[in-house]
Amino acid sequence: MLSRFTTVGTGGPARAFAKPETVSELEEALGWAVERDLPVATVGLGSNLLVADQGFDGLVLRLAGELAAAEIEGERLIAGGGAANAVCLHRARAAGLGGFEFACAIPGTVGGGVWMNAGAYGSEWAAILERALVVDADGSRWLTPAELGLTYRHSELRHGQVVARAEFRLSPRPAEEIKATVAELQGLRKAAQPTNKRTFGSVFKNPEHELSAGRMLEACGLKGHRIGGAQISPRHANFIENADGARSADAIALMAEARLRAREQFGVELEHEVELLGPIELPPLS
Ligand SMILES: Cc1cc2nc3c(=O)[nH]c(=O)nc-3n(C[C@H](O)[C@H](O)[C@H](O)COP(=O)(O)OP(=O)(O)OC[C@H]3O[C@@H](n4cnc5c(N)ncnc54)[C@H](O)[C@@H]3O)c2cc1C
Repeated sequence: MLSRFTTVGTGGPARAFAKPETVSELEEALGWAVERDLPVATVGLGSNLLVADQGFDGLVLRLAGELAAAEIEGERLIAGGGAANAVCLHRARAAGLGGFEFACAIPGTVGGGVWMNAGAYGSEWAAILERALVVDADGSRWLTPAELGLTYRHSELRHGQVVARAEFRLSPRPAEEIKATVAELQGLRKAAQPTNKRTFGSVFKNPEHELSAGRMLEACGLKGHRIGGAQISPRHANFIENADGARSADAIALMAEARLRAREQFGVELEHEVELLGPIELPPLS
């Protein structure tokens, strides 16, 4: 069940699952899927993912082994696409290299960060990423942030394209300073967001409006609003919590209602930030 691999804890089964540890194992898995005409999706820490309750009728990959490791070479962080941000930050701090601190409150992996140009506190993947090795059924290529099409919470990557490795350019910074910045950012995060609940991070991208998505939904009176086992966080309205045995369908119903209310009250069409996998979609705003 993919609910085991998402931070919100919802989602049905995958047709097939593999944990490649090297680029050649990854290529083998992709070839296996091509032979069977199966779609492929990669799951990182599932922290930005809403998987259909019916599951995903394809091959799900979770990178492991050397594809989930991280090391420092000179002033570069070299990481597998499946390396957790927390591990990368730890390696960078131990080597006295700064630049990755902003990712301390993003509970994902390097590949998930590339996929949506993850960012926080004024920085983002595109600012420090030098290049990423993208593997698909046709082979592998190193791509720069421009070639990946990284813009606000977006890349041009498609399912079936796997970020196997990434290289980040960091700069010297005393470990004590890094530690202090991380403590400060984590404190800010804890004060503003439901960090102790099961969520999938920001539900909607911030619109081009004076209000953020969270403030807009709060003004619509949606904090604490519940459908089935899912509820809009009473702490931050751009988060949906798995309050009690939620299904992905409950979260989708809340998202649909939130979009309707934001359009009625502010004339804004909110765009979802969370990635949807499998037969799951938001109804159109009619
Ligand atoms: C409490 C909380 C706070 C958060 N705060 C932030 C924040 O401040 N800023 C922010 O940007 N995000 C935030 N997020 C969202 C999330 O952590 C990020 O989007 C993160 O980058 C997702 O990484 P992941 O590895 O968990 O990806 P997943 O959620 O597993 O997957 C997300 C997408 O990336 C794709 N993907 C994952 N790995 C790969 C790979 N190796 N190759 C190709 N595609 C891949 C998946 O197929 C999927 O489409 C938050 C989430 C939570 C739960």
